[in-house]
Amino acid sequence: MRSSDEIIVPGHPRWLEFASRLNRARFCFGTTEQARSALAGMTHVNVEGSLHALARLGGTCDCHIELDVVHSPAGVGA
Ligand SMILES: [Zn+2]
Repeated sequence: MRSSDEIIVPGHPRWLEFASRLNRARFCFGTTEQARSALAGMTHVNVEGSLHALARLGGTCDCHIELDVVHSPAGVGA
């Protein structure tokens, strides 16, 4: 990965950008495909690294990322 690629996690300056992109994804299929595509649509983001970081925070699929990570007390805008 390039050094300019960012890991998007709660507290990151661009977290809300990711959260608003994911917020359009209303259905969970038990995968992180929507989170992945949200990240992939952002520039200079380490998609795999961010997904791994989110999984460690409990975001193992799209709905867990949306409910447990985006809206967790540690998340921005909680
Ligand atoms: Zn889910």
